Amino acid sequence: MEFPSQVDVTIVGGGPSGVVCAYMVAKAGYKVVILDKKSRDKIGDKTCGDAVDKAALDRLHQESGLSYPSGNEVSDIIEKMSIGAGDVDCKISLDAPGYLVDRLNYGQRLLQNAESVGVTIIPQATVRDILYREENDIRFVSGVKFKHNGKIHEIGSHFTIDASGSYAVIRKQLPEEFFINGLEKELKDVEIWPTYREIIQLNENQSNHRWMNEILLLYKDDFPIPGYFWIFSKGNHQLNVGIGWSKVQNLGKMKDLFRKELSNYYSENDYSVIKSGGGQIPIRPPFDSLVFNGGALAGDAACMVHPITAEGHGPALDTAMRLGKTLINALKQKNYTREGIWDYNVAVAKHYGRKHTESELFKRFLIDIEVSGLEFLIKKKVFNEEELNLVFSGETIALSKLDIFKRFLILLQKPKILFKIRSIFRKTDVCKKIYSEYPTNPSEIDSWRKKRNSTLGLSY
Ligand SMILES: Cc1cc2nc3c(=O)[nH]c(=O)nc-3n(C[C@H](O)[C@H](O)[C@H](O)COP(=O)(O)OP(=O)(O)OC[C@H]3O[C@@H](n4cnc5c(N)ncnc54)[C@H](O)[C@@H]3O)c2cc1C
Repeated sequence: MEFPSQVDVTIVGGGPSGVVCAYMVAKAGYKVVILDKKSRDKIGDKTCGDAVDKAALDRLHQESGLSYPSGNEVSDIIEKMSIGAGDVDCKISLDAPGYLVDRLNYGQRLLQNAESVGVTIIPQATVRDILYREENDIRFVSGVKFKHNGKIHEIGSHFTIDASGSYAVIRKQLPEEFFINGLEKELKDVEIWPTYREIIQLNENQSNHRWMNEILLLYKDDFPIPGYFWIFSKGNHQLNVGIGWSKVQNLGKMKDLFRKELSNYYSENDYSVIKSGGGQIPIRPPFDSLVFNGGALAGDAACMVHPITAEGHGPALDTAMRLGKTLINALKQKNYTREGIWDYNVAVAKHYGRKHTESELFKRFLIDIEVSGLEFLIKKKVFNEEELNLVFSGETIALSKLDIFKRFLILLQKPKILFKIRSIFRKTDVCKKIYSEYPTNPSEIDSWRKKRNSTLGLSY
């Protein structure tokens, strides 16, 4: 295979973020290459819960024209997400339209969409190193070195995008001077989630499972908040089941705890395991800056995963589309500096930055009240489904005086929780305002970060 030596954009990784960014830029007429270490027929596959939020797909479809998952790309249509505490039957369900996808089939189709607009895909290409150039004493990333069939090759480009998922192969090799304005090289252990997942097929003698059109996150004392066990419907007789927790939680052997929890619903004779595997999820709000001279971070490499639910697929697709649009503008203007693609930071901060920071605050509240507190809130119906929907989608709950009074009466038995709820709602309100002020001028970002951290008690 002949490789191009110079392109406009090199994208490392052909997962959801890489492929959508590539599609956008190539469709505008620019030369784009995707390098992925996997073989061509495996790109897109990933150990995952397989749930994708419809809101992100709506934006993707409306703004890029890419079609929704369909046919063999869909395992089930999701209508609701349930949050359970202590027991699968102690749960509250919220509207959560989406899909359980077949990652390989959906990923392969997106790859074909990218190829159809001219993206060159180089499979079995493992990126090892970054290339640099200097302009007026300023260092720019100018491409990558990769290994293919035992040989090292180089590709030069105006922009290099790290879409390599939690490996973050570019991010982790950037020189120290690039780590400014909140862009970070490594994650803290508390922000890294090891996970284990199985796709199980119920045997024919079993009746269908009871989670059709539903995804369930279950919190229990065995795997306390933020960790959880998940049961996602993968259609008739199939489930995507998994467990994950933060690296600092140290709860013992993940596979053993997984098997123990699953045995509460099915004995090992009831199902066969179709697929199994583990993976790491970066769980924190996106970095405050995702750009550097000559490149940017996308998807998991940029920490685009929801801090409570661990949904990163939709955000990866959606924000990569925004990155693509920003790159097109910068390429038109031949401006390859970080300032030239700052708009991407603004777009991410105003949507996922705000939303995921609010969820991070809410997660800290859940950790504080523990599984027993969540169980209490669910059993006493302190929040109704509509309100929880708002909390999970990062919107404000408007409570009337009567609403507040009713909750006050319920929560009199748990005054600490009452106090914490008041505090979390105040903070999420402030968070909205702060993120609406995310600076369009890079020179103001450090003072914005200081203000955000001191007001919200964060240390990013
Ligand atoms: C167990 C688990 C469950 C999850 N469940 C859900 C869920 O239900 N819903 C949801 O929305 N999200 C979920 N996620 C998160 C979701 O999978 C990710 O957020 C999403 O895949 C991120 O897309 P991405 O393009 O950034 O990275 P990825 O999908 O990880 O793609 C990265 C690509 O880069 C390639 N690559 C890596 N290193 C190199 C290299 N050195 N050279 C060349 N190529 C390289 C890889 O081969 C891969 O193709 C889950 C994650 C895990 C691990």
